[in-house]
Amino acid sequence: MRGRRPRSEGLSARPATLGPVTVPSLGVHVGAREDDANPILEAAESGADGVQIFLADPQGWKTPKEHPHAAELRDGELDVYVHAPYIVNVATTNNRIRIPSRKLLGTHAVAAAAIGAKGLIVHGGHVLAKDDPTVGFDNWRKAFARQQEDGGFPLPILIENTAGGDNAMTRHLEAIARLWDQVGEFGAGFVLDTCHAHASGLDLSTVVDEIRGITGRIDLVHCNNSRDEAGSGRDRHAPLVGGEIATEVLVEVVRAAGAPVILETPGGPAERAEEIAFLRSALA
Ligand SMILES: [Zn+2]
Repeated sequence: MRGRRPRSEGLSARPATLGPVTVPSLGVHVGAREDDANPILEAAESGADGVQIFLADPQGWKTPKEHPHAAELRDGELDVYVHAPYIVNVATTNNRIRIPSRKLLGTHAVAAAAIGAKGLIVHGGHVLAKDDPTVGFDNWRKAFARQQEDGGFPLPILIENTAGGDNAMTRHLEAIARLWDQVGEFGAGFVLDTCHAHASGLDLSTVVDEIRGITGRIDLVHCNNSRDEAGSGRDRHAPLVGGEIATEVLVEVVRAAGAPVILETPGGPAERAEEIAFLRSALA
């Protein structure tokens, strides 16, 4: 009988001086499927600690209905995040988009709080090329200020950086800084999407410190690779391994941010399970 190797001498053994490692909560985005699909099961198939879901069609204006698995989501172990529809644009100067956007953010916040979500993720939005971006930042302030008059949002609103557009509220650092001058005091949170950061032209080796310097916080990392070159402005997510971003760079961003993670990578539970396992061991 061969002797067993002592476990502590494996490749992943760390010097005791580094202290205990805290691997953040690692979750998966579960896309819109059939109405009765159970996101908890899909998250479990991926070995995830958390799940991000939509509560309504991501391209539509419908008010969210009660989630069929609301009680399980609320009372279960998973960290739950809700992504607001992509069409929400709180910043825009177009009343016919901005007013329903604000309303939809409000109804999603209530529905997300009802399932115990830790945050509602919403893109920073944009104004048109001809517009003064100051108006967009101010529209964000108004959205929070009006909500505060009604008692505030029932859960954290986490604003995500976006990949493209010339007059976007959360593409460039200068814009994020101007936005935070308006919304920081309301307790707005920040989601750092690595694919969007790369595509927007931000430097992934410094972005965590730069964002924290502006917002004071990173509440969530959307850990995605990119199919496009840096600065392309294109929003096409790729698997953790095999995109334009070196996988080690993604791991370093997650490590530096020290925040919960959601994967919005392509593929189903099998691919996600591999990525979750990979991240878990890379961070340990
Ligand atoms: Zn994202």
